[in-house]
Amino acid sequence: MKIAIIGTGYVGLITGVGLAELGHSVVGVDENPEKIKLLERGVEPFYEPGLAELLKKNIKAKRISFTLDLTQAVNKTDYIFICVGTPPRQDGGADLSYLLRASRAIKKAARGPKMVIIKSTVPLGTNDRVEKILNSSGSAKFEVVSMPEFLREGKAVYDFFHPDRMVIGVTNPKAGARAGRLFGKNGARKVIVNRETGELIKYASNAFLATKISFINDIANLCERVKANVEQVAYGMGLDPRIAPAFLKAGLGYGGSCFPKDVKALVYIAKVLGYDFRMLKAVIAVNSAQRIIFAEKIKKYFGRLKGKKIAVLGLAFKGETDDLRESAAIDIAEYFAKQGAKVAAFDPKAMANAMKVLPKSVVFAKNEYEAIKNADALVIVTEWPQFAKLNLTKVKKLLNRPVIFDGKNLYDSEVMKKKGFKYFSVGRN
Ligand code: NAD
Repeated sequence: MKIAIIGTGYVGLITGVGLAELGHSVVGVDENPEKIKLLERGVEPFYEPGLAELLKKNIKAKRISFTLDLTQAVNKTDYIFICVGTPPRQDGGADLSYLLRASRAIKKAARGPKMVIIKSTVPLGTNDRVEKILNSSGSAKFEVVSMPEFLREGKAVYDFFHPDRMVIGVTNPKAGARAGRLFGKNGARKVIVNRETGELIKYASNAFLATKISFINDIANLCERVKANVEQVAYGMGLDPRIAPAFLKAGLGYGGSCFPKDVKALVYIAKVLGYDFRMLKAVIAVNSAQRIIFAEKIKKYFGRLKGKKIAVLGLAFKGETDDLRESAAIDIAEYFAKQGAKVAAFDPKAMANAMKVLPKSVVFAKNEYEAIKNADALVIVTEWPQFAKLNLTKVKKLLNRPVIFDGKNLYDSEVMKKKGFKYFSVGRN
């Protein structure tokens, strides 16, 4: 099939490259000329495991190309995926300006009937709104399908080929079946629902996962006041199939481009509908506090942070990505810098992005050991696999004092104690 992808960010590029790999003819459209220039040269604009190889392979096979020209792309294709950003507004609601602009541009450009599939995360009623724009006048009849995206950054390529479900929101089930077939036989259960239900499944899923994270972090904070261990609590809870173990990992809370904005957006959606979503407000409050509690624990340990050298390992909002959006690591590094600490930071992939946002006083190290050298404490804030395999003998030698604050619980407290570290983690006193 001939497919256009509008917006070649995380979702659009992974979807485009994935569909090309399945044999479709794909054109990726973006309004950012720098991004298109990179993509035309086969260079991925962000880090995602497995993406670089797949992108190059499909460009070479002429199954995917990139352009700034939406009109041409739309008219060469039958299926159009909208994958533009829906960032948060000040009031928490989703900013739909990119999506509405893209919809109007499609309407203006299209000379024949098309199917438009909305992958962006959008508030209830948005698919209907887009359909109204597209079918407001003229002869081209558009079908609008809501197909929210569930990929995880860091595992996005895998998720494209092995989705656990495909939610397809439609007014016409035949259109849903056609949209679903584009993804081949991927073993996913198809959940065919009406469009508002589809839109809500996406928000409800992210909000529920965020709720699990805030819940276990609240439990961790309780554990720290007694002799309980949050990991054992989570393990014991997770064995109950009604609870399940996923997303019961205590740490620094959720970040990234999706959970924070989607939880806020659902609170806003509820408010507009006259409902006070109190539980999600608490989820947000717990999450915002968690990173501060951790940073203040470190401040309390030293009394004053001024003049202390702190090694910060990890800047991305999670491992296996260079995405800094709503990253706890960035807030924590900024907190140290504001307190007058000398911050030496390292992240395997997110340094270039972090240099643009962190204060000038932050020093960026070449590797973990350069950051750790002569530091008064090592602070782990992102769960990159390599940070769980540090050479601890070397770390101890390099540190000024053998003090580690581990926001991701990457090490065993007993082992660390035996190795002579003062080791502080989350919820494991
Ligand atoms: P992103 O910011 O990485 O990419 C969006 C892209 O759209 C940008 O490259 C931008 O230049 C382009 N764009 C914006 N307006 C355009 C227009 N009118 N025409 C052409 N291009 C345009 O965003 P993302 O992370 O890919 O997220 C996209 C949507 O998918 C959001 O609604 C998000 O909530 C949702 N989502 C994201 C993830 C994720 O992990 N990132 C997962 C699931 C769902």
